[in-house]
Amino acid sequence: MKTTGILGGMSWQSTAHYYRLINEETARLRGGLHSAPLLISSVDFHEIEALQRRGDWQAAGAILAGEARKLEAAGAELLVLATNTMHKVAQAIIDSVSVPLLHIAEATRDAAVHAGYRRLGLLGTRFTMEESFYTDRLIAGTDLSILTPDATAREQIDRIIFSELCLGTIRAKSRAVYLSAVRDLVDRGAEAVILGCTEIGMLIGSADTDTPLLDTTEIHARSAVRHALELN
Ligand code: GLU
Repeated sequence: MKTTGILGGMSWQSTAHYYRLINEETARLRGGLHSAPLLISSVDFHEIEALQRRGDWQAAGAILAGEARKLEAAGAELLVLATNTMHKVAQAIIDSVSVPLLHIAEATRDAAVHAGYRRLGLLGTRFTMEESFYTDRLIAGTDLSILTPDATAREQIDRIIFSELCLGTIRAKSRAVYLSAVRDLVDRGAEAVILGCTEIGMLIGSADTDTPLLDTTEIHARSAVRHALELN
């Protein structure tokens, strides 16, 4: 099994889930005491978030590219960037290493196509919902179409991610905000909703709604294991 390098800490709450999910999937596929060879570079999210807010994506990309090089030098044979938002700087990472980066939007796109969905809702940070770096990659080469919540809901969803979920705070009131956004997307024609932020699965899951949810953390972690086992 290949060694996977995780670029994490964005936030560490979701990186902890990646660690568990990758090991659980490895044990499921390989059995017994098997666990995943992993290297984790966990950055200080305070710095990354400040760069996001300032719009200094170049500096953020340089930090992550540097961490990617460290993971490669330490023996990582494939990389996962454990956040949707920071895929805005995926190219800076790809350009700085010779090992593959498994793109979270591509893994999600493949899962959506495999499930036969055509119209998908998307929840995530304002960057992920409002800019094209993510949705372009999601729909590339498919006939998928993406719906996002209205501006008020997008603002609430983004605020809850940074001021609650990334700190590990789970509030029933915030769950209601997300579930209302899911219902609205379904009313507008979404067949399933992408949890396009790696912390959202901490707040809502399949037990909370009949709407199929595509949790990018789970999809990305499972895809990493399949690549590490060369099953893809
Ligand atoms: N983990 C989040 C995501 O998947 C948000 C934190 C970040 O901005 O990286 O987008």
